[in-house]
Amino acid sequence: MLPAFSNPIYWSNRDQCSGACSQEEVQRWWRSSLSSSWHFPVEKRGSPMARKQTRPSATQQAVLEPLQTTCRACGSHMRMGHHSHRTVTTLQGVTRLTLKVYRCRNTQCPRFHQPTRPEEEGGWALPHGEFGLDVIALVGTLLLSLIKSYLSLLDQVSQSRAGQDASVL
Ligand SMILES: [Zn+2]
Repeated sequence: MLPAFSNPIYWSNRDQCSGACSQEEVQRWWRSSLSSSWHFPVEKRGSPMARKQTRPSATQQAVLEPLQTTCRACGSHMRMGHHSHRTVTTLQGVTRLTLKVYRCRNTQCPRFHQPTRPEEEGGWALPHGEFGLDVIALVGTLLLSLIKSYLSLLDQVSQSRAGQDASVL
């Protein structure tokens, strides 16, 4: 399920604009939204809206391993330290990732005991991210198209107003 802000209904119900604000006001609002944190729906008590349903269980699994299991600092063979788990929601579904984390065991190495996580993990999601990069890209595309259509609508309204004003004079 996509985040609420990817839903056009969410944006149309927002009280940011009563429908009579100018294009400059919308652009100013949009810039402030980008510069500050996202405006997520807020309950009347003022606390951020929490998840109301449990996250869907994973339908797929994947095991990721670092491509290189030799230490890039000392060249010695690293050993697997532990398994790390995370769940990522992509457009294909919910995937449970099992990550094999390796550590250098050479006590003389500057990277001694430092974790080496699978490189592929970064292709799935941002660090600590719940949604995959494909979902983030889709949301960005939807938001951009929504804003473009909104701005073109504002242009049309202002042009029709200008036409009405000219006909009155
Ligand atoms: Zn090392």
